[in-house]
Amino acid sequence: MTVIAWVRRSLREHDNTSIRKASESSEEVVPFYCVDKNYFSEADLGFPRVKFWRDSLVEFKKNLEEQKGKKLVLRHGKPVEEIKKVVEESGADKIVVNQDYTPYFRDLLRDVEKALDLKVETVKDIVMFEKKEITTNKGKPYKVYTYFMKKWFENQKRRPEKVKKYVVPELRSDEIPSLRELGFDKPEKIDWIWNPGRKGGIERLEKFKDKIGFYGEKRDFPSKEGTSKLSPHLKFGTLSIREVFWEMERLREKNPDYDEGVRAWQEELAWRDFYFQVLWNWPETIEKAFIEDFRGINWVDDKEKFKRWAEGKTGFPFIDAGMRQLEKTGWMHNRARMSVTSFACKDLWLDWKKVHSFFSKKFVDAELSSMIGGVQWAYSIGTDAQPFFRVFNPWTQGEKYDPDGTYIRNFIPELEEVPDKYIHRPYKMSEETQKSSKCILGNDYPYPIVDHAEKRKESIEKFRKIKK
Ligand SMILES: Cc1cc2nc3c(=O)[nH]c(=O)nc-3n(C[C@H](O)[C@H](O)[C@H](O)COP(=O)(O)OP(=O)(O)OC[C@H]3O[C@@H](n4cnc5c(N)ncnc54)[C@H](O)[C@@H]3O)c2cc1C
Repeated sequence: MTVIAWVRRSLREHDNTSIRKASESSEEVVPFYCVDKNYFSEADLGFPRVKFWRDSLVEFKKNLEEQKGKKLVLRHGKPVEEIKKVVEESGADKIVVNQDYTPYFRDLLRDVEKALDLKVETVKDIVMFEKKEITTNKGKPYKVYTYFMKKWFENQKRRPEKVKKYVVPELRSDEIPSLRELGFDKPEKIDWIWNPGRKGGIERLEKFKDKIGFYGEKRDFPSKEGTSKLSPHLKFGTLSIREVFWEMERLREKNPDYDEGVRAWQEELAWRDFYFQVLWNWPETIEKAFIEDFRGINWVDDKEKFKRWAEGKTGFPFIDAGMRQLEKTGWMHNRARMSVTSFACKDLWLDWKKVHSFFSKKFVDAELSSMIGGVQWAYSIGTDAQPFFRVFNPWTQGEKYDPDGTYIRNFIPELEEVPDKYIHRPYKMSEETQKSSKCILGNDYPYPIVDHAEKRKESIEKFRKIKK
């Protein structure tokens, strides 16, 4: 018997459920990967994400090849056609694939099963709890995170598991296309701060273990490096969700002082699962607001304002620092993600789908479920979202979470010499201070593009009118 372990987004062998399951049912396993070049021109992708993915794939392939009798069978083409060919060539009886929760994957799976007349076994890998595993007492999926999270902690969780010994039959494997072939050259401005692949993931996890004790205190301050930056590793599965969860559990047992930090961090893993189950149970939220009343909102198509927001030139330093961190590193701190998205909505009234599409192209960790969840949360149109009358203040967000302006100065060089007193509100600088701090308003750094107090009022009023 030969089993195909169809690998998609879990770029590792260790605790990869599809490979493990395949290895438990057969000694002959085909770890199969398909690169569909068309996808790279059709989807909202960008350099950071594609490079992280490619580097991780290269390392995964190499790691397998270095083990006796193993290799990754990689093919270029349409997944349905390529998987069909590999089934024919290997005489496989079964395919195992890790469950994904996007409509894209659901359609793909249906097409593969139709084309092959062969059962494809889907297995849970990328989350702790999926689909309708955690429901209300009436069996309905949760719309409110807190209740979901309570059960998430109570429920028993799987531990990482090793794959059994297996060999790979002799089959042709294509080369991994270069970034250039895929159409992704390195943008000039980017600082490549990432270390993709499993080795990079383990290193990052190890580093973060020293910081977990302070996670609760530091996680909201973008200049403090208080979060794990593991999101791209979880996105591309260079580490498994079980590994990271249980590693922190082990740490908590050894150091009871870390209890609070570990708990706060694991709550974020629960958010991740929460949004995966929202996407699975309400796939329409990719296109529509979760809250039906807000589906008919007429967002503003203001290209100039969108550009200023996207380029980090709004005149609101904390917002601009977030957008420039994204441009420079492919990642943005969660506090900034919430602030810039809230600003795009409540201050600029930009279409959330365009914001989502922009983020998809920029984020190294772009994850459909978390992004739709995060964007709709900040727009007050999603599950368990920020109520529309609670509007983030882009001035005080900076004052509170970047009090000395370190984050702002780090990403906005024009403001480097601006005195602390004005770092959050440079528009208040006198002409003299502008000169002495080498930041002439309207020239080096813009005046605010909107009046926040006014926009806040307008936004609440618009939401109130639309809400039935
Ligand atoms: C508008 C918006 C868009 C977002 N888009 C994405 C996205 O595309 N991909 C993504 O992984 N996260 C997204 N998030 C959630 C969150 O901002 C990132 O997961 C986090 O900033 C990643 O940094 P970290 O790994 O240091 O997080 P840590 O604080 O170390 O958290 C650990 C892990 O928990 C998960 N996580 C943390 N916060 C959240 C959250 N609010 N929702 C879901 N999962 C979470 C991530 O996998 C993260 O790696 C978004 C949030 C907002 C507000």
